[in-house]
Amino acid sequence: MERVPAPLSAEQRLARLFDDGRPRHVGTGWISGVLGIVLGLLALFAVLCLHFPHYLTLPELRSAYPLGWVRLAIDLGLLAAMALAGLSMLLRRRKALGVAGLALAGAALALGAGGVAIPRGQASAIYLGLDWFVLGVLTTAAIFVPLERAFALRRQQGAFRRGWLTDTQYFFASHVLAQVMSVAVLAPAVAVGEALAVPQAQAAVRSLPVVVQFAAAVLVADLAQYGVHRAFHAVPALWRFHKVHHSVEVMDWLAGSRLHLVDVIVTRGLVLLPLVVLGFDTAAVYAYLALVSFHAVFIHANFAPRRGWLERWIAMPRFHHWHHGAEAEARDVNFAVHLPMIDRWFGTYHMPDGRWPQSYGLAGERAPEGWVRQLVWPLRKG
Ligand SMILES: [Zn+2]
Ligand SMILES: [Zn+2]
Repeated sequence: MERVPAPLSAEQRLARLFDDGRPRHVGTGWISGVLGIVLGLLALFAVLCLHFPHYLTLPELRSAYPLGWVRLAIDLGLLAAMALAGLSMLLRRRKALGVAGLALAGAALALGAGGVAIPRGQASAIYLGLDWFVLGVLTTAAIFVPLERAFALRRQQGAFRRGWLTDTQYFFASHVLAQVMSVAVLAPAVAVGEALAVPQAQAAVRSLPVVVQFAAAVLVADLAQYGVHRAFHAVPALWRFHKVHHSVEVMDWLAGSRLHLVDVIVTRGLVLLPLVVLGFDTAAVYAYLALVSFHAVFIHANFAPRRGWLERWIAMPRFHHWHHGAEAEARDVNFAVHLPMIDRWFGTYHMPDGRWPQSYGLAGERAPEGWVRQLVWPLRKG
């Protein structure tokens, strides 16, 4: 009987288009080609934001942009994308990378580049955070891509490892759907938190210096996160959603993005709740939010350096990599995001000296690929 070949995944199809199997090191046109595509795409998105600000940008950010600088950045990004795409075409035999970068940059240019006049008009009730996504890539990737290249734990895995396309979709969705997050997380947490607030406790918290409030907010939030996270592991109905996060089989900065919408909404809402109840100063809460958005990415990173004294007190990648380990000893350990001492208090701390897990993921089970398929995966029978 003839065997039917398995259908190619989206990642494999992309690889066929762009990857000719030739080396990827500096001077081969690979890095310039990939950078050209990324910059071309970001420039195109930014130009679309200028055309449709009421639908594609966050109102909180819209009013704060220094428009002159934004326009200059778009034009410089476009020029850089074209130069990099051209360089890749010179250096690489297969021209697909360069052509794609040029096409994206060309589309951004045809749409008016940085010179687009901002339309007047009514603010929209429903909007996407495409600008937030562009800023997210520019800051997060700019920090973590060089960091992982310089200090990789697993040097061979590369940026385009198994599941990268799925995790990129998560990164995109979590930024673009910022309005959903604020409606589903922030609004209920503030409403419930203010109803439960005890004025005396709030007055006591607010009498503390903001730096002390920040430290206390990190502890309170991580305690709440610890409890919610353990519940997501222990309760089967919740585990169905959280196991999406544990389905990553390769760890890097992007892997941390893979969180089911239900997981994100429940966890963030319940972590924010005690901060509102206790009345922390908004400066302390914002500082905590900035920390968690960096730290939650960092603990997933493909990043080898560690210091024994430091990793006892502050969660480093090895601490959270054990949380994702596929081996039996890694089951239900290291639930905290910031402070490993919380796991020591509750007996779930696991840091075998100097070792890292052998492999990651769900033992014996594999998630479907893609954001949409993973969104409905927990809802399916079985
Ligand atoms: Zn977990
Ligand atoms: Zn994780």
